[in-house]
Amino acid sequence: MVVLQKLFGWTNLLQRVRVSCLLCGNSTPLEQRLCSDCLSLLPSNRNACERCSEPLPFDVDGLCVECIQHPPLFDRCIAPLRFDYPVNLIVHAFKFKGELGYINPVSDLLWEYIQRSYEYDEWPQALIPVPLHPKRFRQRGYNQAELIAKRLSSQSAIPMLDGAVRRTRYLRPQQGLPKSGRYKNIRRSFAVDGDMSLKHVALVDDVVTTGATVTEITRVLKQAGVQRVDIWCLARTPLD
Ligand SMILES: [Zn+2]
Ligand SMILES: [Zn+2]
Repeated sequence: MVVLQKLFGWTNLLQRVRVSCLLCGNSTPLEQRLCSDCLSLLPSNRNACERCSEPLPFDVDGLCVECIQHPPLFDRCIAPLRFDYPVNLIVHAFKFKGELGYINPVSDLLWEYIQRSYEYDEWPQALIPVPLHPKRFRQRGYNQAELIAKRLSSQSAIPMLDGAVRRTRYLRPQQGLPKSGRYKNIRRSFAVDGDMSLKHVALVDDVVTTGATVTEITRVLKQAGVQRVDIWCLARTPLD
């Protein structure tokens, strides 16, 4: 009982600890490393394609030209933010500078958006983070997609399947490659061992740019028997 009281006291105390917002420096609770003002000012991906979440230049409901002409292999993409300032700074900070305090606030924002998006839709049976090549994992020490998926898994109670998809080729960074080059570069870079018994999964990543990586993983998952693949990501890059 004393232990419980002590623990309860600590939890209470932790809830009252305040730190500086990672973006603006204003005071914010320890659990929420981005203050509510900064979170509400992030660029929303409100006008986006219903299928691939590509930001659209104007306010219309429906599909982008690409999805009408060549629908993607994946079935649905959820992306609450546009990859614009300051989302680009946040992603750079947690991806390349080890500033992992950003992960929970942005994952929580994604989770709120996911709940609204699945109100009339079927939930996936498992979450699969986009894997890093083991060499890149050793360099970085963590996989940011896995950290986001872990947070989403604990909130949604949907199991995370880590290791279901393996990266088989070490690639030079895709930045700077044109869209067609990215698709070519990423081919045969992923593998699924054996058949998957799951019918519906969600692939989790931080940012979807051209969609080449998630499309290629969707291809190997569907070859292994998965029928539906949704993409859950924080942000999508607007077309050039
Ligand atoms: Zn702030
Ligand atoms: Zn689209």
